Amino acid sequence: MKFETKAIHFGQKPDFATGAVTVPVYQTSTYEQEAIGKHKGYEYSRTDNPTRKVLETVVAVLENGEYGVAFASGLAAETAVFQLLKNGDHVIAGADIYGGTYRLLEKVFKPWGLEVSFVDVDDINNFKQAIKKNTRLIWIETPTNPLLKIISIKKLSEISKNNKIIFAVDNTFASPYFQRPLNFGADIVVHSTTKYISGHSDIIGGAVVTSSKQIYENIKFYQNAAGAVPGPWDCWLILRGIKTLAIRMKEHGKNALYLAKHLEKHPEVERVYYPGLENNDGYGIAKGQMKGFGGMVSFEIKGGFEDTQKFISKLKIFTLGESLGGVESLVSCPSKMTHSSIPLKERERLGIKDNLIRLSIGIENKKDLLEDLLQALE
Ligand SMILES: *Cc1c(COP(=O)(O)O)cnc(C)c1O
Repeated sequence: MKFETKAIHFGQKPDFATGAVTVPVYQTSTYEQEAIGKHKGYEYSRTDNPTRKVLETVVAVLENGEYGVAFASGLAAETAVFQLLKNGDHVIAGADIYGGTYRLLEKVFKPWGLEVSFVDVDDINNFKQAIKKNTRLIWIETPTNPLLKIISIKKLSEISKNNKIIFAVDNTFASPYFQRPLNFGADIVVHSTTKYISGHSDIIGGAVVTSSKQIYENIKFYQNAAGAVPGPWDCWLILRGIKTLAIRMKEHGKNALYLAKHLEKHPEVERVYYPGLENNDGYGIAKGQMKGFGGMVSFEIKGGFEDTQKFISKLKIFTLGESLGGVESLVSCPSKMTHSSIPLKERERLGIKDNLIRLSIGIENKKDLLEDLLQALE
């Protein structure tokens, strides 16, 4: 089965009891046991829930992985991965990451006892050089957030394997439709299903996918032991979103490329960041590991923060807001919003300036979106 078919059918046969074509919302906390310890595989919904189980199966197969584990948010999924480590272990993370991941590592896991190094992702050797005796995990996003830099998953997986380090990729920005990191040697894929996977800006969710039985068993144990599970309704909404993931991603990608090309030519635009532009540093690697370049476009407007504010206030279709990956287009100013938890000095070092604008390109008509951007730039 191909991706589009799996998204709709894999693990989603009509309900055995009633024939319902859609996976039912099993809104139950507990399950009858015929006799003590004798049950149909479900005891309590923190441990397992049938609606959640289908979601976990589908996300895993779309990532070409063996096992999926769903969480109540992307950050809960990340926490599960960091909890694979113990006090005193060392993590190397790409410096260009989601602000919340930075905060989780810096403010929660560092005080808890993890050692964390953030490395510049422009040169893959920086990861190699940061490896210490106690390094247990390498963590990246590609494309990165918000500058959409591209890291070679294959090269980094080789470095990880040679040093017996677990390699995790946050694949939220690409979605499994455009990129499957396990195919290039990653051990773990993490998603904020809040974004493209659900795709309609109506739930918060996360998932971990792996093909390693041992990693799966540890993550699954942690899911039940710590309990940050999504409810059946949210799982059902994510499953509904997944059915259209392929056609949505195609449109996101087409619209994003169209708009990035127009922005690039505009006199009021300083610089455009989109891996699908041939002059982008990541274009070559992206072509090798992605099936498309995604729906996120960042750019610097000429001027400073005031100009950024003015531009954003003039937009009519793009909604100012955090998040991404929904059918509707969003605009944000990373330095003041998603990445404000990164200290100013570190932000400046990373190149996240006050005139940087991040667009999550939706699936509206591309001409309407262009017109909106042009009139606001004007
Ligand atoms: C949103 C996001 C997260 C966090 O996910 P939540 O569902 O908000 O907890 C992690 N990584 C990336 C790349 C994200 O965009």
